[in-house]
Amino acid sequence: MPAKKGARRKAAPPRPNSPALLQEGAFLALIDSSIKSRKETNLIVFHSVRLEEIRLSRGEAMAVQVLERLVEFVSAQVRPQERLGRLGSDQVAVLMTSPLATAQEAAQRIHQAVRETSRVPVSTGVAGSVGLDDGARGLWKLARQAAAEAWAEGARTVRTRTKAGPVPLPIRMPRLPASPAGSSIEARYQRLVLLNRMSLELFADRPFPDALVAASNVVLALMGSPYAAVYFCDDFGSPHAAQRHGDPLFLEPEAQSEEALVVAQALLERRIVTAQGTRLGWLAAPLSSIKGKDLTEDGVLVVGYPESRAPSSEKDQTMLEISRLLRNARLIQRNLQQQRVLAAVTEQSADAIIVTDLASRILMWNTSVERLTGYTKEDLLSRQADLLAPAGNREEQHHLEDAARASGSAHFESVSRRKDGGLVPIEGHCTLLKDDSGTPWGMVRVFRDITKRKELDRMKSEFVSLVSHELRTPLTAIQGFAETILDFGDGLEADKRTHFISIILEEAKRLGRLVTNFLDVSKLEAGAMHPKPRQVELSALCKRLVLLFKEHPSLAVFEEKLSPQASSVWADEDQVYRVLVNLCGNSLKYTPPKGTVTISSKPDGEFVEICVADQGPGIAEENRTHIFEKFFRVADTVSRKTPGTGLGLAICKGIVEAHGGRIWLESAPGRGTRFYFTLPAHP
Ligand code: ADP
Repeated sequence: MPAKKGARRKAAPPRPNSPALLQEGAFLALIDSSIKSRKETNLIVFHSVRLEEIRLSRGEAMAVQVLERLVEFVSAQVRPQERLGRLGSDQVAVLMTSPLATAQEAAQRIHQAVRETSRVPVSTGVAGSVGLDDGARGLWKLARQAAAEAWAEGARTVRTRTKAGPVPLPIRMPRLPASPAGSSIEARYQRLVLLNRMSLELFADRPFPDALVAASNVVLALMGSPYAAVYFCDDFGSPHAAQRHGDPLFLEPEAQSEEALVVAQALLERRIVTAQGTRLGWLAAPLSSIKGKDLTEDGVLVVGYPESRAPSSEKDQTMLEISRLLRNARLIQRNLQQQRVLAAVTEQSADAIIVTDLASRILMWNTSVERLTGYTKEDLLSRQADLLAPAGNREEQHHLEDAARASGSAHFESVSRRKDGGLVPIEGHCTLLKDDSGTPWGMVRVFRDITKRKELDRMKSEFVSLVSHELRTPLTAIQGFAETILDFGDGLEADKRTHFISIILEEAKRLGRLVTNFLDVSKLEAGAMHPKPRQVELSALCKRLVLLFKEHPSLAVFEEKLSPQASSVWADEDQVYRVLVNLCGNSLKYTPPKGTVTISSKPDGEFVEICVADQGPGIAEENRTHIFEKFFRVADTVSRKTPGTGLGLAICKGIVEAHGGRIWLESAPGRGTRFYFTLPAHP
C-alpha cells in the first residue's frame, strides 16, 4: 500500500542534530576508551537479522540499502550525546554512558519505534560493561548474544546481558488513577501489584536462576532500593549468594564485606536487621521455614541503599512478605530438584523397580523392568503384579507380599516370566511403603536378573566334580599300579613290571599336564604370560605334532596344507605349539576313527591365518559363544564320555590374544569343526 509506505518514510527523517555514524574501528576505539575511563558503558546493538538472506537472494546493493534504512531509523531516535556506530555487516549500535536501566529503556523505545515504522526486521540486545575485562569486543559480543536471545524469543522486546548474566528490563511503576484517598492507598496498591508480579515471576515455568533474576528486579521496585541480593543456605547452613542485582557500586569489596556482615547478623538473630554504623544502608531478612518442630534458616534477602537508614516498620513488613515468597519458591524448587534426582536415579537404576498399591496393582516402574520382562508401558500400567510371575509361582508371590506386610520387608529369590514366555531367575526384596502418618499405601519390589550368577553357580559345581574326577582317575591308576608292584615284589614278571611302571609314568604326566593347565589359566588371567616371539616355521611345528600324536588311539591322519606365503609366524614357539596341541588334541578326540585332521595356513594382511579342521560331530550354535570360556564343556554325550577340563580352548584364546591375534570357529553339527586363529607374520 503506497500511502502507508509514504507514511513510514515520513516517520523517520534523520534529526538535524543526530550524531554522525562512526565506522567499526573508530567506534570500537571509542567504546574502549569509555570503558577505560570507568564511565558506565552500555552498548545497544540493533541487528538487522534478515540482511544475510537479502544479500544472498537480492544482492549486495539491496542489502546496503536495507542497512542504510535501519541506520536512518535508529539515528532518528538517538540523542546527540549518544554515539552511533556500525558494527559488522549487519548491525547498527549505540554507545551510552548513562546507567544500564536508562540504556535499556532507550533500547526498548528505539526498538519499538523501528518495529512500528520500518519493515526492517530487527532484534535488539543491550550489554553493560560491569565486571567485563575484555574491552569493546567483549561488550559487543555480549550485546550480540543478547540480540540473538531476543530474536529467539520473537524480538518483541530487547534482551540485556552483563558479564554476570541476563538483566531484565527495568520495571515501570504501575500508576493508579488519581484517588481522593491520597498516596497511601496508591502505595499499598502498588505494593500488592508488585508482590503479585513477583510471585508470578518466581513461580513461572522456567529455570530457577532466571526466575530469581526477574524477581530481584521486582524487589528493587518494591523496596525502592538500587541493589538487592538473595542468599540460600547449603545443607550445612552456610549462606551462598544466588543472585546479586542492581547498582555495581554494591559489588565493590568494601560493600561486599558490609553485606556479608549483615547476612551473618540476620541468620544469627533470626529477624529482620538494619545495619548500624556501615557506610551504605542495609536491610536483611532471614528466609525461615519450620522443619518438624524447629525453625530453620533457608537463606537471607538483603537490600542495599546508598546511605545508612533508620529502621522502618513499613519496609520491614514488605521485606517479610518478599522473604516469604522467596522461601516458598526455594522450597518448591528444592523439592522439584529432589524429585528430579530421585526420578533419574530410579529410572537409571540397573535394578528393576516396580511400585504397586496394596491391591498389587502396578503404579510405577523403571525401564529396567521393561528390559528384563519385555513388557511395555501399555502392558504394565494398572495390571496385577503377578502378571510377571509364572502361573505356578503366584502362590509364592502372595506369601511374599504377606511377609512384607508383616515385617516391612521380605527378601526373595524366584523366577520372573517374560512377555515372550521365557523365564528369568531373579532376586530382590519387597518393601512396604508407608505415608508420613505410618499408614501403608503400597509396595516396592526391587529385583535383578541373576541368570549370570546362576550360571556361575552351575559352572562352579560342575568344575568341582570335573576336577575331582580328572584328578582322581590318574591318582587311582598310579596308586593301584604302585601297590601291585609293591605287593608282588620280585614275584612280578619283568615285562609286566615295566608295563605297570610306564602306566604310572603316563598317568603322572597326565596329572602334570592338568596342573600346568590350571597354572597357565591363572597366569593368563593375571596377564603374566609374556610371549618371547621369534620367527617360527609352521612346518616344523606340524612335524612335532605328527610325532606327538603318532600313537593316538584314533589313528587319524594329519594333512598339512600350508601356504608358501604363510609358512612362518612371529610368535613364541612353545606357546604356538601349545595352541596347536590343544586344537589338534581336541580334533583327534572328536574325529571318528581314521578320520582326517587338516592343518592349513594362508596370509591375512600383516597376519597369518591358521586353521585346524576335523570331521567330528561339530559344535552346536548355542555352545559356540561359550566355547572359549574356562571350564566350559559341551553337555552332550560325546563330550561327557571324553575326558577334559574345559581349559584347553581358554588357554588357546589367552595365548593367541597375548600375541595380538584372534581366535574363532566355524562348525555345523555333524559336519566337523574348523578352529581358526591369527598370529603376526613378522615382527
Ligand atoms: P576339554 O577338551 O579339556 O574339555 P576344551 O576347552 O579344549 O576343553 O574344549 C571345550 C569343549 O569344547 C570340549 O569339552 C568339547 O565339548 C568342545 N570341543 C572342543 N573342540 C571340539 C571339536 N574339535 N569338536 C567338537 N567339540 C569340541
